[in-house]
Amino acid sequence: MLASSFDYVIVGGGSAGAVLARRLAENPACEVLLIEAGPSDVGVGAIADPAAWTSLCGSAFDWGHVYAPAPHALGRAIPIPRGRVLGGSSSINAMIWYRGHADDYDQWERDGATGWNFAALLPCFRRSEDWQGGASAWRGAGGPLRIELPQDPHPIAADIAAAAARMGVPTIEDLNGESNFGACHPNLSIGNGQRWSAARGYLHPARDWPNLVVVTDSLVTDLVLEGDRCVGVRHRLDGRTRQTRARHEVILAAGAIGSPVLLMRSGIGDARALRRLGIQARVDAPGVGDRLQDHPLLCGMNFIATAPLGPVRDQGGGVLLNWCSSASDRPDLHGFFVQGAHAGAGLARELPADAPVFALSPGLMRSRSTGFVRLASADPAAPVEIQPNYLADPADLAALVESVEFIEELAGQSPLARHIVRPLVALRDHAERVEFIRRTVDTFFHCCGTCRMGSDDASVVDPALRVRGVRGLRVADASVMPTIPSCNTNAPTIMIAERAAELIAGAA
Ligand SMILES: Cc1cc2nc3c(=O)[nH]c(=O)nc-3n(C[C@H](O)[C@H](O)[C@H](O)COP(=O)(O)OP(=O)(O)OC[C@H]3O[C@@H](n4cnc5c(N)ncnc54)[C@H](O)[C@@H]3O)c2cc1C
Repeated sequence: MLASSFDYVIVGGGSAGAVLARRLAENPACEVLLIEAGPSDVGVGAIADPAAWTSLCGSAFDWGHVYAPAPHALGRAIPIPRGRVLGGSSSINAMIWYRGHADDYDQWERDGATGWNFAALLPCFRRSEDWQGGASAWRGAGGPLRIELPQDPHPIAADIAAAAARMGVPTIEDLNGESNFGACHPNLSIGNGQRWSAARGYLHPARDWPNLVVVTDSLVTDLVLEGDRCVGVRHRLDGRTRQTRARHEVILAAGAIGSPVLLMRSGIGDARALRRLGIQARVDAPGVGDRLQDHPLLCGMNFIATAPLGPVRDQGGGVLLNWCSSASDRPDLHGFFVQGAHAGAGLARELPADAPVFALSPGLMRSRSTGFVRLASADPAAPVEIQPNYLADPADLAALVESVEFIEELAGQSPLARHIVRPLVALRDHAERVEFIRRTVDTFFHCCGTCRMGSDDASVVDPALRVRGVRGLRVADASVMPTIPSCNTNAPTIMIAERAAELIAGAA
């Protein structure tokens, strides 16, 4: 028996939605409803087990989206997993906890996200954390999300860091500390050997709160608008469509694909494009779905190993590297160790059946190429068009060529070289490297920016995350990022939600 109205209705129980629901419900006078399309995460072994995360991509807990053929990546259609389960993508992700460089956020403010600079946002990052190293000026302790170092890093990880040091990339203690330039063990959203998703950290401890209702297996189909005000949502529940009203606000936290799609299905988007599909345009907002960003990741540079690596430890990694391309004065290139092969469909065919393999996978963390999310049809069941446009900006390709050259040189450095028989694919010149990049570029799983925050009229939300042209509606998730930060996107999304909760509570 779900009540017909709540103070706040939050759409999407992922990284951001879990934080928002918990933080808003910390005020016992507030009645909060969280609606999630997927099932509960409780009791799912593959979600709890860090080593099993890759098995969740393409599973029943993944929306199963596929990027449109990427014109600069040989027209390949690359799957783009998104969590469809309580905890959202934080329930299926690789658990790296990394917030990038301070200037990522200072740039947001320079781009018009007034008040969103690193100094202002650091308390939100710190508040979310329960960092194993304890509280400091940079880190938080006692927050909902347990963050630990790998408990059992693979010995090759240390040799990779030592080899990187020979190439001028220092070994650092904590990539979420003062500097992120260097090699170090990753921070992981893991506690007691188990995944520490946003659901686990924020929602599970609040499961008995009387003012927080969490509904799973309930797809929100569109928003209920009265005049210029959003007053609720339409959603499927127990085989029926019902309306649930928000007395104060509806907050979209359906992610970088789900949030723009819900806006467009509700008539908020490029009016001409919506009309062409037969959707009544309510607010002309051409920015909705525009400016999709995702880091390009090369999947992967595989090496035949001198000895079997043994069972996967932690979440299958163990060391991260951040260094600078010749075009950047702060780390824009990133690489990580994979305790096994890392190969997309094409490359997988070339993997040896009878030899041990590990990978060093480089990616570009300050990529410039942008794409879009668009509706292809008015039919809510039809797939949407999601185009990342990888490598569309030539600067991205140039930086990735440098990343490949760096990993090639790293592999020849002591003490890493003693673990390697040979690279799986030997690249002889620039042209072969470019071809390899086009063949292997893949998603880093970091899509964002499709409901961009800013102060200009073309931005979708203002710096208080309110949707322009509609009252009673905000977006708070990875979609509001003005530009992609130079890191994995879970920690920044959690921070956005912490900040959103402050803004919403302050406005009440
Ligand atoms: C496989 C994978 C690996 C990744 N690895 C890392 C990593 O190691 N480190 C890192 O920092 N980041 C990683 N990321 C990215 C990171 O997890 C995401 O950026 C982050 O979780 C995004 O949070 P969000 O709240 O914006 O969206 P999500 O967490 O995806 O949440 C959106 C939620 O909304 C729900 N939803 C969507 N539409 C509707 C609807 N119509 N009705 C109801 N509910 C709806 C979804 O089911 C989902 O639960 C990874 C992502 C994936 C998929």
